[in-house]
Amino acid sequence: MSPQVRAFKRRFFPDVQRAEWDDWRWQLRNRLRSLAQLERIFTLDEDERAAIRRHEGALPVGITPYYAALMDREDPAEPLRRTHIPVGAEYLSSPGEAEDPLGEDAHMVVPGLVHRYPDRVLFLATAFCSTYCRYCTRSRMVGDVGGDHRFSYRQWERALAYIEATPTVRDVLVSGGDPLTLGDDRLDWLLGRLKRIRHVEFVRLGTKVPMVLPQRITRGLVRVLRRHRPVWLSLHATHPKELTREVEEACNRLADAGVPLGSQTVLLKGVNDDLVTLKTLFCGLLRLRVRPYYLFQCDPIRGSAHFRTPVEKGIELLEGLRGHTTGYAIPHFVVDLPGGGGKVPLVPEYLVGRDGDELVFRNFEGRLFRYHDPRGRLGRPIGAGGEPC
Ligand SMILES: *Cc1c(COP(=O)(O)O)cnc(C)c1O
Repeated sequence: MSPQVRAFKRRFFPDVQRAEWDDWRWQLRNRLRSLAQLERIFTLDEDERAAIRRHEGALPVGITPYYAALMDREDPAEPLRRTHIPVGAEYLSSPGEAEDPLGEDAHMVVPGLVHRYPDRVLFLATAFCSTYCRYCTRSRMVGDVGGDHRFSYRQWERALAYIEATPTVRDVLVSGGDPLTLGDDRLDWLLGRLKRIRHVEFVRLGTKVPMVLPQRITRGLVRVLRRHRPVWLSLHATHPKELTREVEEACNRLADAGVPLGSQTVLLKGVNDDLVTLKTLFCGLLRLRVRPYYLFQCDPIRGSAHFRTPVEKGIELLEGLRGHTTGYAIPHFVVDLPGGGGKVPLVPEYLVGRDGDELVFRNFEGRLFRYHDPRGRLGRPIGAGGEPC
């Protein structure tokens, strides 16, 4: 157990046996969900308290005791706490925001199955999460007991039937909610069914569980993932504070079993939108054998403006990484286009322009270099009225 987690457990859950604490189902049963449970641990400010009281419907408050142990109990501005404890700004609606900004509901071919790209689908296997991130892309549906989005075997069967009948689908991204909150048996069943479809080449799981509930990564679970290989795992990582001994153990277990690991991070104002934090996170992930895959511009869900950075911030941060650190540690920075346009990558511009038969580039240090490229058409002429940098 990491020292911080041990100290937390000793203080707030002194009578809980180590075996219970390490049991993912205990962690789920004992999630912090109510104002009283939160106040037992955190000193909440008036804004947080009012926001928690006011909440109803989807995206409830939910934090595993393990993950709460990583948060600051006094400071509302602490990064992990900001991502999980609601504030009043969540109730403000800003221009450009929508309930379903990515138009997922419109692209659902059957309930819980989004088919947006030609050869792959997004399979929403559950609406449940172990912890609820306040900036969640699917804030409209997750954690909404009895809401519009119910997930059942019957619904799974309809999604499986669609995939079976659609031979162009070769890649299934299972997400939710968080699919790793399903029990081993259900996951085994779902992965087994997917793998039996001849044209499905591989399955990916999108999950935050390894970071917020590393206890879930049991030997049994890993056996299930191995059995249905290749299963890739995209884990949602936010901040280097998450990279504890527990998380290291969980990632080791997955990587040792041959599960390829990638990460997804949402760029969040005041949480991880600075170079040192991102670099520490991405390099830390590489050490855990997790390859940073996507850095997302924060989707414009309703009430998320307090988390959103200008798009140029992401580009600027990438520029601070490229060349300055391991290429493997640099994810693609993408904006998921409103209305269902899909993900588009954004990269800093290194091509300065064209000078006759030569392209002029700047490198990561800002120095200019020429590359002979006589027949290409890339690059605007520089010199005559053009701006060299
Ligand atoms: C993100 C996403 C995918 C997977 O996209 P990749 O770029 O292949 O990782 C598939 N379907 C939907 C609807 C998505 O949002």
